[in-house]
Parts: sequence; C-alpha cells; structure tokens
Amino acid sequence: MNIDNKLVVFCGPSGAGKSTIAQKIIREIPYFEFSVSATTRKPRNGEQEGVHYYYLEIDEFEAKIANNEFLEYEQVYEGLYYGTLKAELERIRNKGKIPILDLDVKGASHLKEAYGSDGLFVFVHPGSIDILAERLKKRGTEDDRSIEKRIRRASFELEYANKFDYVLHNDILERADKEIAEVITNYLKK
Ligand code: 5GP
Repeated sequence: MNIDNKLVVFCGPSGAGKSTIAQKIIREIPYFEFSVSATTRKPRNGEQEGVHYYYLEIDEFEAKIANNEFLEYEQVYEGLYYGTLKAELERIRNKGKIPILDLDVKGASHLKEAYGSDGLFVFVHPGSIDILAERLKKRGTEDDRSIEKRIRRASFELEYANKFDYVLHNDILERADKEIAEVITNYLKK
C-alpha cells in the first residue's frame, strides 16, 4: 500500500455525524490520524487545544493565510475561519499515517480538485434536515442562534452531496459504520 498522497475527507453538514465516524475509524484502523484544523471559533466546553482544533485569534489566522500556511481554509460561518494547515498534514505523514479530515463542503471541493483520485471524499448525509435539527438540539453544544445558523447552512451543503466519491447515509448508525469500514478497506487496497 502506498500511503504517500492518501487522505480521507469527511464533509457534510454540522451534526451529520462526521466526527463520530472519523473518530471510530481512527480508533479501529491504525493507519489513520485526525488532522486537527485551525479555527477562530472559541473552544466549546471540554474542547482542547491541539486535540479538537488549534484555536487562533483572527489576526493570527490571517497572518498564516498571508504566509501561505494553509492547504485550504474557509469562512464556514460568517466571521469564523476554519482551515487545514500544511504543517498538520506533514506532521501526520511524517509518522507514516494517513490524515483524516473533517471539512465543510467548500473546503472539501477544493481539496478534491487538488487531490483527485488520490484522496477519498465522503459526504456524510444526515437523512434529512429534521433529523439534523433534532441531533443538534440533543447534542446541546450550541445555543438556539448557532443551531439556526447551522441548519441554514445545512440546506446549502446538502446540494453538494453528489460531487463527492461516496455518499454515506448516516440515519442508522450501525449500518453506516459497516458501510464506511468497507469503503475505507477498498480505498486502502488501491
Ligand atoms: P464546528 O464549529 O461545528 O466544529 O465546525 C463547523 C464546520 O467547520 C464543520 O462543518 C466542519 O466540518 C468545518 N471545518 C472544520 N475544520 C475545517 C477546516 O479545516 N476547513 C474547512 N473548510 N472546514 C472545516
């Protein structure tokens, strides 16, 4: 298996279950490591620097943009930057591992253009906007305004689903787990 240029990207709306799926793969398949993004969003309760994100001030983030340190970045929500640092992918590859990324659909589209068939781009589909709204409320990490912002954004993101290599329907968790394990195993054989 040649892992040089491999990378797996999960994209899709916030609350679709991307990070749960990514974390499960990382726990179960030793080839992968999570690519920690940089963001200007403030940490949520329980989130840790360098584990969930690298938390930056806006001027720090913009200095890194100017310095060409990002592989991709987006203002996913108004005023909030999220981006993948080139150094982060290097850190993971230096350990001989394959990066797993959790990106918004725009960032994922840009990387798909750059990586083509070397990468595996999976769109995680929540089933419906109603299911998504329910999950976000249950998760309890966002206030009402933030949930509303995420739901509005989700309608836009769902339109991108067919641009990616694989659409994973995450309405039944056990089925999605089994399905993605198969997709990843086939990708690793390539
Ligand atoms: P949250 O604030 O819920 O952690 O993330 C919001 C959204 O930003 C999610 O849809 C997540 O996939 C996306 N995101 C996280 N990191 C990055 C990144 O490095 N680049 C891009 N383009 N999107 C990201």
